[in-house]
Amino acid sequence: MKKATKKEILEIHQLFIERYDDAVTELTYKNAYELVIAVALSAQCTDKRVNIITPPLFLKYPTPQLLAQADINDVKSFINSCSFFNNKAKNIILMAQRVVEIYNGAIPMNEKDLQTLAGVGQKTANVVMIEYTGANLMAVDTHVFRVAHRLGLSDDKTASKTEATLVRKFKNDLHALHQGMVLFGRYICTAKNPKCEECFLTEFCRTTKTFKV
Ligand code: SF4
Repeated sequence: MKKATKKEILEIHQLFIERYDDAVTELTYKNAYELVIAVALSAQCTDKRVNIITPPLFLKYPTPQLLAQADINDVKSFINSCSFFNNKAKNIILMAQRVVEIYNGAIPMNEKDLQTLAGVGQKTANVVMIEYTGANLMAVDTHVFRVAHRLGLSDDKTASKTEATLVRKFKNDLHALHQGMVLFGRYICTAKNPKCEECFLTEFCRTTKTFKV
C-alpha cells in the first residue's frame, strides 16, 4: 500500500479539523468519574449500549465512595448487557476503591495516574484525557485503526504502533483528529459497506476500488 505523502497528511489533517473541530465523545457523562467508567465500559461494547446502562448505575452509585463499597453482584446486574461485564464490574469497583484511597475521591487527571486504576490501559486513559481536557493525545480504537490504514497513514500491525505513527505524522490537534477519526469510521468509513459516496477523503483512499465511488 502506498503511504500518504507529507502533503497528503497535511491535507487530511486540515480536512478532519475543518469537519470535526467541535466533535466530542458520544458517551454521556456528567463528571470525570462518570467519564472514566463510561470509557472503561465501552471497550468491546458500543457507546449506545453504554449510554443505556450507565444512567441507572450512576443513579445508584453517584460517587467513587459509594461504588467502592458496592456489592459486585449488584454492579453486575446493572452492566450485564455489556460484554465482559464480570471483569468490568470487578475493575470499576477496584478503580473506585483506589480513587478513594489514593486520590482522595477525585479522578487523577493525567494519563500516567489514570493507568494505575484497574481496567484503565493506555487507550482508555488517553480517551479520558482527550475528552475531558482536550489533551494533545491520540487513542487508537477499531475505527481509528481502520481509517488510518485506509488512508495510507499507517501500515502498522498494532493499535499502539498506529498510535505512535499518527502522533508522529499529525503532531498537533490530536484530540480533534481522534474524535474526528472515530466519528468518520463509525458513520462513513464503516468496516463493512463504507459510505464512500459521502466521503470527503476519497482522493486519499488506499483501499480497493470496490469501496470507491
Ligand atoms: S473512500 Fe470509502 S473506504 Fe475510502 S476512506 Fe472514504 S469512506 Fe473509507
